[in-house]
Amino acid sequence: MNIGIIGAGFTGLATALSLVRRGHNVVVLEKESYPGGLAVGFQEKGWEWSLEKHYHHWFTNDTSALGLAGKLNWEVVIKRPKTSIFFQDSLYQFDSVSSVLWFPKLSPVEKIRMGFVLGLLKFNPFWKPLEAYSTSQVLAKAMGQSCFDTIWNPQLVLKFGDYAAQISLAWFWARIKKRTQHLAYPKGGFLMFAQELTNQIRKEGGKVLFDTTVLNISSENAVSVEMQSKKIHTQRSFEKLLVTVPSALFLQIAPQLPSEYQKKLKDLRGLGSINLILRLKKQFMRDKTYWLSICDLNSPATAIVEHTNFMDKAHYNNEHIVYVGKYLDPCHPFFLKSADELLDLYDPFLKKINKDYRKNIINYHVFKSPFAQPVIPKYYSRILPPFKTPLRHVFLSNIQQIYPWDRGTNYAIQEGEKAAELICAS
Ligand SMILES: Cc1cc2nc3c(=O)[nH]c(=O)nc-3n(C[C@H](O)[C@H](O)[C@H](O)COP(=O)(O)OP(=O)(O)OC[C@H]3O[C@@H](n4cnc5c(N)ncnc54)[C@H](O)[C@@H]3O)c2cc1C
Repeated sequence: MNIGIIGAGFTGLATALSLVRRGHNVVVLEKESYPGGLAVGFQEKGWEWSLEKHYHHWFTNDTSALGLAGKLNWEVVIKRPKTSIFFQDSLYQFDSVSSVLWFPKLSPVEKIRMGFVLGLLKFNPFWKPLEAYSTSQVLAKAMGQSCFDTIWNPQLVLKFGDYAAQISLAWFWARIKKRTQHLAYPKGGFLMFAQELTNQIRKEGGKVLFDTTVLNISSENAVSVEMQSKKIHTQRSFEKLLVTVPSALFLQIAPQLPSEYQKKLKDLRGLGSINLILRLKKQFMRDKTYWLSICDLNSPATAIVEHTNFMDKAHYNNEHIVYVGKYLDPCHPFFLKSADELLDLYDPFLKKINKDYRKNIINYHVFKSPFAQPVIPKYYSRILPPFKTPLRHVFLSNIQQIYPWDRGTNYAIQEGEKAAELICAS
């Protein structure tokens, strides 16, 4: 079959590799100049490895991602980096039973209740009944209001903003269930890994076209795709087409979709992401924290991630790399702010963690993605968009179909491989 795929993120690339291996003619159309989608990276002069525009790692139970790395003979680095929380202007390690027992801001009873609830979620295999409840309601009741207000509510609000109270317990269950203390990272970074995947697809006969933006798709007996590459307008026909872009973008390029279906996709909510990357001469979190969750509702950031407290700084010309991450509604005015403006806004908060960091700055960059995190309300399984679309021979596999697991490259790869099977069977 002659199959088109829109998007060279991990869903599109994983589907393409599976399809070429089944003997199909595959063309991937990607508007950017590099593969990787939301996990795309960049490389500064003197750096041996690429770095993601938005922080990324795998868990050690991300079997689809690790399996793909294995198939490509791609080395994966596994380490146990430190995870901490920021509470009342101090950092506290918060990634093991003993570190939680040492945390001075919860009473012993609160710690027992919290441990019991997290343990129940970790060992419970059934997520479906949980989607009837909201995370906030259950955690506040089961762990106690004070524990919820100290640890969990700030994290939910800083991540989901006005949607925080709506987030399904099934989503929280998945976060707890999947978390591993050891984390994994592809050698060279996600960009280099995606480039290797692209090379493999090409080696096995597939095509991956960069700088190619799909403008319109329509479907009758075959699927017709209008696209633009380097200001040249072209049209191509495919027997089947897989769309991997977020639903809002799918609506823009497929005006033929029936209005009822359009409404369903429009009702899905999502948040964008802004990451300010600081390149420093010295370590930012001197206690070696890699991941800092923020438990302070006044914080301007959702999380701080010091990548070089996980991966060796030698790969980045001995620079210390820190992400200041924030999730926001895509219409939020922060999306219009420059790196300088954002740094000025974050500065008082960053100084609480390291008062001298500013004099160690080599450079800084900001990266923004308008669609980064689906909002998962109660009963999401009822509104999750299906793989088959109303357009004949057009299928959808995107970030908003990952459920109950939190979206990630592992699930992009898993769903991509499943999409290849479904397309062949269709
Ligand atoms: C802040 C942040 C942190 C994250 N952390 C992690 C993590 O630690 N671990 C992890 O595994 N995952 C993480 N993720 C999630 C992960 O990046 C995504 O789940 C995954 O990359 C989604 O892949 P995808 O292929 O489904 O979609 P995308 O990556 O969005 O790919 C869609 C592709 O379609 C292209 N496209 C869009 N419109 C068009 C068009 N009209 N024509 C042609 N091409 C088009 C886009 O350029 C893009 O390349 C994180 C994401 C963010 C934003």
